[in-house]
Amino acid sequence: MNVDAPSSVPASAIRDAIAALKQVLGDKGWLEEPTDTLKYRTDWRGGSVGEALLVARPDSTAQVSDVVRICHGAGIAVTAQGGNTGLVLGSIPTEPVPSVVVSLERMTRIRSLDADNFALVAEAGCVIQTLQQAAAEVGRLYPLSLASEGSSTVGGTLSTNAGGNNTIKFGNAREQVLGLEVVLPDGTVFDGLNTLRKNNTGYDLKHLFIGAEGTLGIITAAAMRLMPGPKKRETAMLSVPNPEAAQVLLSRARELSGDTVIAFELMPRRCIDLAMEYIEGIVDPIATPSPWYVLMEMATSSEIDDLRAKLEAIFGEAMERELVTDGVIAESETQRAQIWRIREEQAEAGRRAGSAISCDVSVPVSRVAEFLARAKEMCERELEGVVLNTFGHMGDGNIHYGIRKPDAMSVEAWAQRKGDMSDKISALCAEFGGSFSAEHGIGGLKRDDFRRYTPQSRVDLMQAIKAAIDPDGVMNPGKIF
Ligand SMILES: Cc1cc2nc3c(=O)[nH]c(=O)nc-3n(C[C@H](O)[C@H](O)[C@H](O)COP(=O)(O)OP(=O)(O)OC[C@H]3O[C@@H](n4cnc5c(N)ncnc54)[C@H](O)[C@@H]3O)c2cc1C
Repeated sequence: MNVDAPSSVPASAIRDAIAALKQVLGDKGWLEEPTDTLKYRTDWRGGSVGEALLVARPDSTAQVSDVVRICHGAGIAVTAQGGNTGLVLGSIPTEPVPSVVVSLERMTRIRSLDADNFALVAEAGCVIQTLQQAAAEVGRLYPLSLASEGSSTVGGTLSTNAGGNNTIKFGNAREQVLGLEVVLPDGTVFDGLNTLRKNNTGYDLKHLFIGAEGTLGIITAAAMRLMPGPKKRETAMLSVPNPEAAQVLLSRARELSGDTVIAFELMPRRCIDLAMEYIEGIVDPIATPSPWYVLMEMATSSEIDDLRAKLEAIFGEAMERELVTDGVIAESETQRAQIWRIREEQAEAGRRAGSAISCDVSVPVSRVAEFLARAKEMCERELEGVVLNTFGHMGDGNIHYGIRKPDAMSVEAWAQRKGDMSDKISALCAEFGGSFSAEHGIGGLKRDDFRRYTPQSRVDLMQAIKAAIDPDGVMNPGKIF
């Protein structure tokens, strides 16, 4: 960004602030050349590029505090960034104001891990996969699991309250948090970093920063709860005739399994075809094609729990009731990984295929099949020749509703209809008492839906909180509101 471009902040103040930032960050702690900062300014889908005076790469909470204090003093906006895998334009600057990106990529330490307290404390830039591995090494489980876990971070997943594959059993990112350390907009460090299970001492302020998408402060570290590590795991891909059958199967599997179902993903045939077309090495798991599939995973931390027997009982009953027509149970870790890859590569396959919108919506778990039927009817009425790819975490009512450009439609005509179709899915979702953003957040992309579907009393309260904590609006402007 050009320091001399028109702005309410005097160019001299910006120059002084940049010099001060470079000084506190040291040589390895900042990037300024546009070619060096490009990847930090480009969103994951590659469609938007923001502007930034500097990318700050602090390596300690003290440095984050200094950076935020300097920016605040100069009226420079601050956008926190973790793995930059967010899908709603939250992690790049989007407003025409002088901005600095604060990347947490150098703050990756696990500060402590107490297996007997079932807890660890990690810095915000720690990648989720690293956390999972550290927990596994001491026989524990960090249960948040999402396709972006090789890049997404503690700070990013908490700031978006990420969901993922295991929400059905372990809840979203919020449920994993015991305590937080946060740098507030004036540089003050909020110290809420404890690993207690019980601590009823007034307002539980950590929750303000979870799901806040960097609009209230920068999370620098988090205390997370851990679970006993899984001793047994069973993964199956099941052919189901339709989402209605999958819905019945879901309830029954949870009942019969003693609540050991940790993932329940619904996919149409299109998911397998798309993955096979755009991603190397995808294996079609079941010889006879089916219109729909369920990827179900069960896990237990008990050595004496016979998961295989439970899965076979569920499978057998479902076949008898014609809820399931075929299926495969993973017999090795390789086969398990092959099955999961089909699901996990959907975002990447969709990105490569292009010309599609994906709405991240949720409805009550019991109404997913009904919602899918109504949405399909609506899409087919609105767009002749529409191709749908509607998959997702059925176990927690979250569907990624993908609508592809009909083959016969021009790119220009599609560009005009995209927003409208997305609005119609959000409106239908609202009719079902659902959410227009199940797990990705609001960022800069879904602000219209936020205004449209959020009760005014809630917006007012959120704005009051924003004004109290960040009165000058320096934290990630243009996001959420
Ligand atoms: C292939 C793929 C699969 C995905 N699957 C899922 C899924 O299953 N479930 C799901 O919920 N999401 C999913 N996502 C979306 C994304 O991975 C999540 O939103 C994730 O939580 C973002 O983490 P991140 O570290 O990349 O954050 P970023 O993208 O860097 O940032 C996301 C938001 O958090 C803010 N932020 C980042 N770090 C901090 C911090 N330290 N303090 C304050 N604010 C901060 C940013 O300003 C931004 O608003 C997927 C994305 C991809 C690309």
